[in-house]
Amino acid sequence: MKLIIHRGTHEIGGTCIRVMTDRTSVLLDAGLPLSPESRSINQQDLEADAVIISHPHQDHCGLLDTLPDSLPVYIGEVGKCLLDATRLFLRRQPLQKAFAYFRPWQQFVVGDIKITPYLVDHSAADAYAFLIEADNTRLFYSGDFRAHGRKSILFDSMVERPLRDVDVLLMEGTMMQRENNEFPTVNRH
Ligand SMILES: [Zn+2]
Repeated sequence: MKLIIHRGTHEIGGTCIRVMTDRTSVLLDAGLPLSPESRSINQQDLEADAVIISHPHQDHCGLLDTLPDSLPVYIGEVGKCLLDATRLFLRRQPLQKAFAYFRPWQQFVVGDIKITPYLVDHSAADAYAFLIEADNTRLFYSGDFRAHGRKSILFDSMVERPLRDVDVLLMEGTMMQRENNEFPTVNRH
């Protein structure tokens, strides 16, 4: 498995990560940057067999407009509805893409890459982390998540029963650079 982080480090949002094997290439998120100083991404770097969207925030899916309509886009079904609803308010037509819907905790396959979505608690409904498996390597991509929201039980259960044998962890760290802010720990009742 090869991994290229096109964008999303040293900044909040703009996330776009490529995971490749010899046969298959997928993008994890295709986000628009939140900062004008963010690096740009070449269109050829966005060529892939599929794009997998963690949640319907623009900094994770805003580049969908620039991708070919024939490119399969894997997303949660509620997340896709939220994308459409947002465009309605902006008076834009719904995206005409090759959408495919995954379901929480149900593995799907793109070429020789296995993807398992994990529902997470985030300010966007229908947000996911992903376990990516290929070439005997396991990568876990957290997407955006929080530990204090309506579905915080999802965070608690992942901390209490963490995934095993993960080779690479890509984790959002928005809160980790803020002073006097500790990384959240699990509340045990
Ligand atoms: Zn988000």
